[in-house]
Amino acid sequence: MFYRCPKCGKKFRSGTDTITEPTFGKCPVCHADGELVGESGKTYPPDANDYEDTAD
Ligand SMILES: [Zn+2]
Repeated sequence: MFYRCPKCGKKFRSGTDTITEPTFGKCPVCHADGELVGESGKTYPPDANDYEDTAD
């Protein structure tokens, strides 16, 4: 799941395995709710490699 933070513009990824975590879909920098911009296996954004993986 690809997200972009509406506040600071941070691009990040959240895995569906963390969907039960309170941090799921939240910006790792400012913890605002990210905007969903793409889903793995469905709609990859063209700049997918710029998204920080927050799953680890
Ligand atoms: Zn942010």
